[in-house]
Amino acid sequence: MIIVMEPNASEENIQNMDETLRDLGYQTILNKGDVLTVIAAIGDKSMIAPKHLSAMPGVKEIVPIQDPYKRASRITHPEDTVIEFENGVKLGGNSDLCVMAGPCSVEEDTEILLTVARGVKAAGANFLRGGAFKPRTSPYDFQGLGEEGLKRLAKAREETGLLVVTEVLDSQDVELVAEYADMLQIGARNMQNYKLLNAVGRQKKPVLLKRGLSATIKEFLLAAEYIMVQGNPNVALCERGIRSFDTSFTRNVLDLAAVPVIQKRCHLPVVIDPSHGTGQRYLVSPMSKAAAVCGANGLMIEVHPDPDKAWSDGQQTLTIPAFESLMKDLTALYKLRVSSDQL
Ligand code: PEP
Ligand code: MN
Repeated sequence: MIIVMEPNASEENIQNMDETLRDLGYQTILNKGDVLTVIAAIGDKSMIAPKHLSAMPGVKEIVPIQDPYKRASRITHPEDTVIEFENGVKLGGNSDLCVMAGPCSVEEDTEILLTVARGVKAAGANFLRGGAFKPRTSPYDFQGLGEEGLKRLAKAREETGLLVVTEVLDSQDVELVAEYADMLQIGARNMQNYKLLNAVGRQKKPVLLKRGLSATIKEFLLAAEYIMVQGNPNVALCERGIRSFDTSFTRNVLDLAAVPVIQKRCHLPVVIDPSHGTGQRYLVSPMSKAAAVCGANGLMIEVHPDPDKAWSDGQQTLTIPAFESLMKDLTALYKLRVSSDQL
């Protein structure tokens, strides 16, 4: 439940309410806005009728909430979360569109990663993406270079100044990946790996959480809640397409409506991945543009100097010139976007 305090509630009223809630066994989160203070009371205490609470001094309103994702919910945290990175790049709210680009996986040939990194940096990308630990459907497919891949990503960051986002597959590797990356990616297949969510929640680097292949938006937000409960508030949600009956022309169905749907209920930044979302190179540009207009805060796009020779996901990967041309259109389109306060 959420307790909205009157604009003129005193500090004593607020503290009194906070203590009363804690005595009743709730965990509390205080959010002091410019005008109102709201207190989120967490814990399923449905057996305790909190009627007397509304009569306490300084209380404006008690809003029972069904949302089980209390930390991720806009009710407890009305302002957009903006994740700020070391080099000043921001993701979320009214910040510029944050673009993450790079190959599906970090490959054996060191030059490929550096060529992509230079190319996407020159085109205006903020992050270099690339998998060092790859979650492949078949155990016979390329599984990634592991730590060697992380080292190459870090080297490309050194040279270009790009931030690095890369996937962590296993809770045992969280510290290792966090040593090299600026943002840890949780892949679609691990969205409900709760031990891994807890582990990334306990470390400090921001997390890019991908939506599970058949996850509902509620399950997606609850997965983010797992990370936040452990103390990490810097989570971005990445829609990357969901499974549908129709795979005749696309790999997945890219749920662009998820952007405003999530932003209406949740304050975390939303990133769209049109590469995995469609599985088709020719669809990446139109869906990126649509994402920029419907309010996405970021994009994750697969780019390779020679996509047809890429070790994974070449069919959905852009060339560097195609990426450059997309980036030129995105700036203008992003100005037309629907922002969360219009929802
Ligand atoms: C990826 O981005 O490298 C990836 C494997 O994506 P997903 O987890 O969305 O399939
Ligand atoms: Mn891929």
